[in-house]
Amino acid sequence: MSGLAILPGATLGVMGSGQLGRMFAIAARRMGYRVHTFSPDSDTPTGQVADFETSGSYDDEAAVREFAKSVAVITFEFENVPSRTIEWAAAHCPVRPAGKVLHICQHRLREKEFLAGAGIPVAPFRKIESAAQLASAAAEIGLPGVLKTAAFGYDGKGQRKLRPGDDLAEAWRPFEGQPAVLEKFITFEREVSVIVARGLDGSMTTWPVCENEHANHILDITLCPARLPAPVADRAADLARSIALALDLTGVLAVEMFLMHDGGIVVNELAPRPHNSGHFSFDASVTSQFEQQVRAVCGLPLGSTESLRPAAMANLLGDAWAAGEPDWAAAAAFPDVKIHLYGKAAAKPGRKMGHLTAFGATVEEAAATVRAARAALVHTP
Ligand code: AMP
Repeated sequence: MSGLAILPGATLGVMGSGQLGRMFAIAARRMGYRVHTFSPDSDTPTGQVADFETSGSYDDEAAVREFAKSVAVITFEFENVPSRTIEWAAAHCPVRPAGKVLHICQHRLREKEFLAGAGIPVAPFRKIESAAQLASAAAEIGLPGVLKTAAFGYDGKGQRKLRPGDDLAEAWRPFEGQPAVLEKFITFEREVSVIVARGLDGSMTTWPVCENEHANHILDITLCPARLPAPVADRAADLARSIALALDLTGVLAVEMFLMHDGGIVVNELAPRPHNSGHFSFDASVTSQFEQQVRAVCGLPLGSTESLRPAAMANLLGDAWAAGEPDWAAAAAFPDVKIHLYGKAAAKPGRKMGHLTAFGATVEEAAATVRAARAALVHTP
């Protein structure tokens, strides 16, 4: 393996420039790599800590090729990179994970068809391209359901819950003109995720299952480890490994799942990159999801994903700035809390600005601490 490995000193390319790339860059630079980020933006969360930042369009073939020639490997912090951009890049350097993995994961319908084809449990779903198809699919799989755009959806954007008796023609109108997916609404007991990494040699590691609470469709709190019976946690980890294998993944993959009241598991969504629910690992694991991404895409052996302590992560959205700059000293007064800020200038409601991670003797204690620290930093108007 070491003969093929990309070693410290080499320059790693990352497409996308948000907080996931920022934490990848921090992990890579700590190991002595150089980092070059490519995205349409400038002074980005990733660019602020990378060695090099290129601001270019994913449609600019010359810029993409030049970027690919300047790096030893390209990886992603953002999966919605056009396929032809990846093809241009792949002519000059390895691209990990491969373009076909992104192609599947950037489109809900392809993703669901891939998962169902691989024997992975998913919510019943139908492809929808017209109001008539929506009506017949709703009759077939039953309502309530969730109508989702097939492409470019995240954090509940491009989604609408449909209840029995809703006017389906009216519900379809904002979706008109683009393919969508109708999914059966799953009455879950809890939302969990498993992050799996797969090395160039096919070896795999998973972090302990995470338990996720959302607010307004955006991840709010993650607890790790999830409070689950061991056999359920093992099944969740097995599913994540099966998916990584079926994708022939090299890199990191997040698998979001619904845990049912009867202990059954349904896979909701994939992200072929580090994930918000894995941020705890930056502080609370022997190897973080970002360091593992570096190791995987460089062809190095993977590190241990053992937890150092039970942990909880709380997102900091732009809403926390509503009554002025948060009180960082108040959060820092919690000795078991780590403050992460992403270097974004404008704090808009719903925008992920940073997160806090807290440790505890138990996940419950860690969750109570992270909630208290977050409450302490927000000024009340
Ligand atoms: P997604 O963009 O698919 O990750 O969905 C965002 C959130 O919407 C999920 O984390 C769930 O809380 C909720 N959700 C999405 N799909 C379903 C479903 N089929 N049944 C119940 N809740 C859902």
